[in-house]
Amino acid sequence: MIYIKSTSEIAKMRRSGRIVYDTFAHLKPLIQAGVTTKELDTAAEEFIRSQGAIPSFLNYNGFPASICASVNNVVIHGIPGGQRLKDGDIISIDIGAVYDGYHGDACRTFAVGEVSAQRKRLMEVTEQSFFKGLEFARHGERLFSISAAIQEYVESNGFSIVRNYCGHGIGRNLHEDPEVPNYGRAGHGIRLMKGMTIAVEPMVNAGGFATKTLRDGWTVVTEDGSDAAHYENTILITDGEPELTTYY
Ligand code: MG
Repeated sequence: MIYIKSTSEIAKMRRSGRIVYDTFAHLKPLIQAGVTTKELDTAAEEFIRSQGAIPSFLNYNGFPASICASVNNVVIHGIPGGQRLKDGDIISIDIGAVYDGYHGDACRTFAVGEVSAQRKRLMEVTEQSFFKGLEFARHGERLFSISAAIQEYVESNGFSIVRNYCGHGIGRNLHEDPEVPNYGRAGHGIRLMKGMTIAVEPMVNAGGFATKTLRDGWTVVTEDGSDAAHYENTILITDGEPELTTYY
């Protein structure tokens, strides 16, 4: 069941999305060698609550933190803890916030100090792939045209797109229909309509696309140990240009 959002629901999603965006701005200066991922989590939670919102991920299916902090070969769902960031690391930080019952969800991958040219390129290709997909996030387009554009861009740059996890509808629920894969056939899938809200989130591996989950039941790593990057925004389909609620 895909929910079409009303004007008042969209206003709430703009509010939660803006809080997510502002949380990244709040964290950015803290993302330096020596900081622990738990310290970043605490800073994010305090900021989100200071805005009158609640971290979407905290206790979601039992997730024990407010952000996902995924370093280097961790693709998604890294649990914040005592790990200290080092110069040259890359860290994907996924943040969700719920305000007045509506969620915003976004992810950015950050460089810690100076990173290798390969890691820089991985981050850039991942971010750009989102914007390639965004070109098809329009009323009347087919959903998998977004997926295909992401896949084509990532693979033509020599990286691989994760298959086991995908983007999702979002609104009153953090995850709702439809699923938004990052690979697929252009011109297929459901027809997008004005008022749909979807989180599109390419997860890109430098090596193969296979992943595995660690014994903590959450942390997803690349099977071959290669690096991974992740980029996400919440998108509102309009009758014109798509609107990003988590990007300004
Ligand atoms: Mg998401």
